[in-house]
Amino acid sequence: MSNSVKKRKRDDVPVSSPQRNRSIASFFKGQATSIVSEDTDQTLSDEILARKLQEEWNQSDTVPSTGEPISAPSKPEDNNIEPPNKAQKKNTLSLQSSVGTEDTLSLAVPFDQSPLTFDSTRYAEELKGHWSSESGNASYALLTRAFVLANATTSRIKIVDTLVNFLRVLVEADPSSVLPAVWLATNSISPPYAEMELGLGGSSISKALKKIYGLNSQGLKTLYDRHGDAGDVAFEAKKRQSFTLMKPKPLTIKGVYQSLQKIAISKGTGSQETKQRIVEKLLQDTRGAEESRYIVRTLVQNLRIGAVKTTMLIALARAFLYSKPSGADYAVRPQQELARLKKEDLNEVYNNAEEIIKASYARHPDYNDLIPCLLDIGVTEEILVRCGLQLHIPLRPMLGSITRDLSEVLTKLQGRDFTCEYKYDGQRAQLHCDEKGKVSIFSRHLENMTEKYPDLVSLVPQIRGESVSSFILEGEVVAVDQETGELLAFQVLTNRAKKNVDIGTIKVNVCLFAFDLMYLNGIPLLNRPFRERRELLRSLFVEIPNRFTWVESFDATSADSETVLEFFKGATDTKCEGIMVKVLDNVLKTNLPEASETTNNVDDMDKSDPKVPKGNRRKALLSTYEPDKRLESWLKVKKDYSTSSETLDLIPIGGWHGQGRKAKWWSPILLAVRNPETGSLEAVTKCMSGFTDKFYQANKAKYTEGSPNIISRPSYVEYYGEPDVWFEPQEVWEMAFADITLSPTYTAAIGLVSDERGLSLRFPRFLRVREDKSVDEATTSDYLALLWRKQFERSQKEETERPAPDTELDWQEE
Ligand code: ATP
Repeated sequence: MSNSVKKRKRDDVPVSSPQRNRSIASFFKGQATSIVSEDTDQTLSDEILARKLQEEWNQSDTVPSTGEPISAPSKPEDNNIEPPNKAQKKNTLSLQSSVGTEDTLSLAVPFDQSPLTFDSTRYAEELKGHWSSESGNASYALLTRAFVLANATTSRIKIVDTLVNFLRVLVEADPSSVLPAVWLATNSISPPYAEMELGLGGSSISKALKKIYGLNSQGLKTLYDRHGDAGDVAFEAKKRQSFTLMKPKPLTIKGVYQSLQKIAISKGTGSQETKQRIVEKLLQDTRGAEESRYIVRTLVQNLRIGAVKTTMLIALARAFLYSKPSGADYAVRPQQELARLKKEDLNEVYNNAEEIIKASYARHPDYNDLIPCLLDIGVTEEILVRCGLQLHIPLRPMLGSITRDLSEVLTKLQGRDFTCEYKYDGQRAQLHCDEKGKVSIFSRHLENMTEKYPDLVSLVPQIRGESVSSFILEGEVVAVDQETGELLAFQVLTNRAKKNVDIGTIKVNVCLFAFDLMYLNGIPLLNRPFRERRELLRSLFVEIPNRFTWVESFDATSADSETVLEFFKGATDTKCEGIMVKVLDNVLKTNLPEASETTNNVDDMDKSDPKVPKGNRRKALLSTYEPDKRLESWLKVKKDYSTSSETLDLIPIGGWHGQGRKAKWWSPILLAVRNPETGSLEAVTKCMSGFTDKFYQANKAKYTEGSPNIISRPSYVEYYGEPDVWFEPQEVWEMAFADITLSPTYTAAIGLVSDERGLSLRFPRFLRVREDKSVDEATTSDYLALLWRKQFERSQKEETERPAPDTELDWQEE
């Protein structure tokens, strides 16, 4: 098991990412035949390869491309895009030594220094000169340098410092490369709702690797079996390549980002060839094995540098405290001044900046808008005005904290007026409507679902009361029997197609159970108490039976325990998952201790990082809508599956041959949580309970030996044992369990609660396949650690509350 996993910081909290993390194995399946793979030698000689490639390029230069024209790019930096044919015309056969082509200047920048001492201006000046031959565009080598340093450390402080210093150099030397660099470092090319997918087939990377680095299928497979990660395979292949066909044209940050955009927008006939050419060109132009590694990791969308969303937001906030583009007229803090501050004061300066950036991103999660704003005005409150809540841009949803049972809820909310709402088992939806009546619908993970729910879109004119011009409201979409109003199971909803749903052919009817209103007639309502938001929602919008209505609710205080219990029973009897309990007002009625907050934020929980605030800060329990936060002003109580009310969404990753009656099937099955920081899957438990025979059968049929769903041991799985077979990770299963235990065998969340031991589940039981969740949305190791801590705190509390032991007995035993 890698050290990085062991030494990882404790107490990080999950950051959900809607990005697709495809499995590496899938990139080596079903490879199309290429000229190279026909050769029997492990690798072609560079000379032969060069001639073959040159021949191909000559041909493709004379034959016009069959691909659709790539539409004109809209962003200013896109002006630098080279038409693909132009790039190819430059191909001339000349073998070059690949040694000495690396960008040694970029490779020497000490980005991992403390930002308090790092001399960004000196490096910016040196690099500007160095990039003048590339029209001043920052080199991809510099980004690679930052990736390598970030990847080399397990310290979150170092990762943040590296990104901060890297961003500072870019801000000072080539501000126009900051935005593409941020997209590349966050392993995406657009916000989730913009739906820009690379759409690279599994075979195209391997085909390009073979072609550009002169490997045949066997050679590629050998490297893959040894390294497991497509990027590492590219690294090795590039390292072995002693000659290249032509001097690589240095990759720039903008150029690489534009190539990815070109891949994403290339659609229709011939687009596969266009994409393939771009991928090959990128690999061809890498200077050095590290560039190859990160280009390929970017293409397979599994960067593994730990620059998750929150890390990037923190890095941006800090970088713009220190640096600004030349000519910008806002103030930055001189480095010497920051260096003189006491640690707490520096933390406060950092925190203030970070809060602004995080708040902006939670309301308006699009770097395309945030970065230009930052370059223009730096980190100021005005960012929240310029880059705040906006119609047709989804805000990141507020989340609920888990609770063990109702009594915990009543204790937590003593002295408060709260409301209990049914927790419907459907799909969360954010509905935006502007004055012109244009409607957008977004999912919990910010994907655009407008095409999935044309029936909801068509309801808007009727539900929008007369005084409503524009709004953003939120609710749960549930499949509902239109005749009886009966709620249907979540699985029914999953039968609906995701795109291009034709309103005339809808078979699964839905009802939107609205529960919040965040924006009304041009005014954000986030800071208004929930009671007021709910009042506006229910008074200004119009119900339509079985199609648009309010969540079932009941207002209470802690004194109403009996009625709350009744309400909870009513919810679970009506096919709901349980209840959500929400604080109604901001004011405390009595002077009770304030409840604590947990956030969906890595560094708020990072106890080992002195630069960031500690987790579990005592904070007033507000009834405001807090985007992207998991607060205790929203509590969820789920029906008890077993002793634990919480369930986990785990990824099946392997299986053992069953015994006796189950000999024909895989049983037990090994399951994992995902670690969004390292990109690894960490084994958490074996399960053999809750499956029906029919399920076992289907499972065996899916994961048949010899099928592409059975793979060799993946390098990205962390597990001390060895199942009989490894599954290609592709599903998410909801699992119940009794409790979470420390384990010497399982690696889940290792380093988060114990340096030596991981976490595992007692009495795991399969509940259902989460058809609606992709592997990237499975439970994270941080979340598992959070649940473990909650369970630990609970047991400590129960320990102290237990009556004192009988003293007489104590005496007798002595
Ligand atoms: P789960 O795994 O239970 O679906 P989650 O991680 O998706 O939870 P939580 O914050 O834990 O999100 O639970 C809130 C979810 O419950 C919301 O995302 C929403 O989809 C759903 N929900 C159903 N009814 C309500 C309600 N009345 N108020 C808020 N959320 C509700």
